[in-house]
Amino acid sequence: MKPAGFDYAVPRTVPETLDALADTARDIKVLAGGQSLILEMHLQRIQPDLVVDINRVTELDRLSVNDGTVEVGALIRHGAFESPQAVPGPLGTLFSRAVVNIAHPPIRVRGTMVGSLAWAHPASEWCAIATALDADILLQGPDGTRQVPASDWFRGPLRTARRPGELITSVRFPLLGADSGVGFIEHRRTHFCFAQVAVAAALTVRGRVIDEARIGLVNCADRPVRAHAAAQALTGADVGSLGTDHRLPDGHPFLRAGRIAAEQDAAPLAEPYADLEYRRHAIAVLVGRTLRQAAEGVPQ
Ligand SMILES: Cc1cc2nc3c(=O)[nH]c(=O)nc-3n(C[C@H](O)[C@H](O)[C@H](O)COP(=O)(O)OP(=O)(O)OC[C@H]3O[C@@H](n4cnc5c(N)ncnc54)[C@H](O)[C@@H]3O)c2cc1C
Repeated sequence: MKPAGFDYAVPRTVPETLDALADTARDIKVLAGGQSLILEMHLQRIQPDLVVDINRVTELDRLSVNDGTVEVGALIRHGAFESPQAVPGPLGTLFSRAVVNIAHPPIRVRGTMVGSLAWAHPASEWCAIATALDADILLQGPDGTRQVPASDWFRGPLRTARRPGELITSVRFPLLGADSGVGFIEHRRTHFCFAQVAVAAALTVRGRVIDEARIGLVNCADRPVRAHAAAQALTGADVGSLGTDHRLPDGHPFLRAGRIAAEQDAAPLAEPYADLEYRRHAIAVLVGRTLRQAAEGVPQ
């Protein structure tokens, strides 16, 4: 199919973009990487009156590190994070482990992190990482600027707290301290499918005791999940010896956290090829493995 007809605007600055978005009586869509929007327009599931292409708004093509945070502008592509050095410290490692799971290289060259947060697909890797790490979404719109914590941003599948006429200008993440270890593991049916389940984790361990755990679940509910109950159960737990065996010993805190995440934090929906029992099992196993990967990355 081909898209239905639409008007097209190509602003050069943020104020010009806001002007183009101002007529809230029309169905207006921002075009960033186009890797979700154009597909939906071709299928005619989305038929905007006006497409506002932000690709020439150079001020949105910025990645900056300030005061313990990294701010990712709305035109920074997924592929920018394939190098762990793109962002300082363990956060760069986490991003680089996650990003290779997003689609395939041509999509990562065009698609943007902010576009993923705007699209809010429950199987998006960035949405779960933003939720787990308490990122802030920064917006400009008719009422000025505002920022929304990721915990309040996602309202359901493809639904967010964005208001009509607003442009997301960037997303801001707290950097992770050098004493943190990170993990990201994804399970999917074939290489190019969306995640059936994926888990992001950041752990701070002092000695052998867990100081703080942050766990994000991908495609485990109708929106990204921060696994608070599992993380709480881990605080103060003794990681013990992880050994070299692939399996964690029975009763290990990471296995317990996996079961808690699957039973209390996640609210998975059954999907073709993955009933609820399978999905809860996959969540429990992946959370345990991802926590182990994170603990192994904590500097000794
Ligand atoms: C085959 C295929 C496989 C994929 N696999 C994955 C995957 O495994 N994981 C994953 O996370 N994604 C996947 N994607 C989606 C991809 O990551 C998209 O790039 C992403 O969802 C949207 O980013 P975009 O920059 O392309 O946004 P666009 O497609 O340009 O826009 C998407 C939506 O967000 C809005 N939007 C974008 N930017 C802004 C902004 N700055 N302010 C306000 N609204 C905005 C648009 O109006 C539109 O509604 C896949 C896509 C395809 C085609």
